Amino acid sequence: MPSCDAIIIGGGTNGLACAARLAASGRRVTVLEAAPAMGGGASTVEFAPGYRVSGLAHLVLNLDPRVVQGMDLARHGLGYATTNLATTALSATGDHLRLDGPFGAHAPGLSEADRAAWAALRSRLLAFARVLAPFNAMAPPRIARRAGNDTLRLAKLGLGVRALGKEEFREFLRMILINVADVLEDDLTDDRLRGALAFDATLGAWLGPRSPNSLILLLNRLAGAQGALAVPQGGMGAVAGAMTRAATAAGVALRCGAKVARVLVTGDAASGVMLDTGEELHAPLVISAINPRVTFQRLVGPQHLDAGFFTRTGHIRSRGGAAKLHLALKGLPDFRGADPTTRLVIAPSVGVVENAFNAVKYAEVPDAPVMEVILPSAHGTGMAPDGCHSLSAIVQFAPHAPENPDAARAQMLEAALRQLEAHAPGLRGLILHAELLMPYDIAAKFGMEGGNWHHGELAVEQMLFLRPLPEAAQYATPLPGLWLAGAGSHPGGGISGAAGWNAADRIIKVLK
Ligand SMILES: Cc1cc2nc3c(=O)[nH]c(=O)nc-3n(C[C@H](O)[C@H](O)[C@H](O)COP(=O)(O)OP(=O)(O)OC[C@H]3O[C@@H](n4cnc5c(N)ncnc54)[C@H](O)[C@@H]3O)c2cc1C
Repeated sequence: MPSCDAIIIGGGTNGLACAARLAASGRRVTVLEAAPAMGGGASTVEFAPGYRVSGLAHLVLNLDPRVVQGMDLARHGLGYATTNLATTALSATGDHLRLDGPFGAHAPGLSEADRAAWAALRSRLLAFARVLAPFNAMAPPRIARRAGNDTLRLAKLGLGVRALGKEEFREFLRMILINVADVLEDDLTDDRLRGALAFDATLGAWLGPRSPNSLILLLNRLAGAQGALAVPQGGMGAVAGAMTRAATAAGVALRCGAKVARVLVTGDAASGVMLDTGEELHAPLVISAINPRVTFQRLVGPQHLDAGFFTRTGHIRSRGGAAKLHLALKGLPDFRGADPTTRLVIAPSVGVVENAFNAVKYAEVPDAPVMEVILPSAHGTGMAPDGCHSLSAIVQFAPHAPENPDAARAQMLEAALRQLEAHAPGLRGLILHAELLMPYDIAAKFGMEGGNWHHGELAVEQMLFLRPLPEAAQYATPLPGLWLAGAGSHPGGGISGAAGWNAADRIIKVLK
């Protein structure tokens, strides 16, 4: 007896977006979330008494406008402490570079030529990102005849690409294939600028700025909100809170502490799930908004899948290279005069970013990691006791499978603190409590396979109609009744909801 029309596994932002969209189409939807609260990577946590930070993701960069409007997130309580967050590329000498607005670049010693080259490069990247953005809001096309593609929409998108003009179209193709370091070194001379852009291109990726195709990741990042960054009021948990309220208002049944252990199959189709408690729930539609590799390898199993497909699901690459650092500080650190309400980036050159990545190729901890630092307590009240501050940093690159995980964590913490102290002398003396989540801690805590930001590496060979695998790229899977809706599907991760919304759209279209 079906418990509802659709069961969604995982109450992250993609699961919630998918649930709300399906509920709006008249379906009875249940979301099953293993953790005690909804939201997945979007959470606010108290990591030391009185000190709060976003537990994993800390900046909004690609929250899908369809989700924001469709779920009416503002009405459900989502507000921002800061929008259009500026970036400060920190220099150990105090000669910081500030990037604000779409084209602003200000720094002592920044030449007019570099300023102009930056504006030209940025404008070109933003134009290319505008061409890519609509692809993120639809199921990727299938490379097959009569594949049921939305040909009219695809034709419109094709026109967008053509509208670039012949010259720019050639440049667009070159940019998709090239590594970001080559472009930066061709166009710019300032190491602070180059370092900050190389950092942005590789944030959350398992590749360095000199790895092939790394520039497309920068385009993908800019496709979000044309590069605009925002800090939610109260941390990233505010996004999860608003989505939870919106889903509830839409009639979705939400269950926390409900870990799915198996997808149930009747005949040759998914028919429900079994929780780790043994409880069974039945529905004709099972939608997995968790990692695709875990979905097929552990929840479905080989007996229900074609052998070749099952083997390939085990090959979906999902290495994470980002660690998360939280510090409770008894005072405001001084980053040599940098504005503490900006995003502080420590990535002094392309070479430093590349070297940090080189280490993790060999499962080692880099001597000089690169990082993005936010001081949540500088953006609003309630994030730290009066006069005190919380610090949240994404630190790269961290090995996802070192030989000795405890030793690697300690070594990584020391390397991160060394970098911070070099840029904010005296910071170490302010630390009351430190917490570092390595990729394997993130995997254990948030169910992100390998600790990967996107639930599966975002790289050209795992993008669009190849994501996560060609047979499951339009959200339907080879097992009838089982669909995908998480970041491991197109268009990838971030606190976005895009994959979940696209999946729901596809389900509504296909099952009418
Ligand atoms: C270090 C780091 C920093 C990041 N920073 C940012 C950032 O600043 N901005 C940004 O936009 N993105 C950031 N991200 C990426 C972002 O967190 C993810 O891409 C995003 O959370 C993916 O959303 P999702 O809904 O697909 O999956 P998730 O958020 O992972 O949600 C999946 C949910 O499924 C649940 N689940 C798993 N298994 C089961 C099961 N068997 N049964 C029931 N429930 C289950 C999990 O508990 C989880 O709640 C960061 C990622 C990392 C690793």
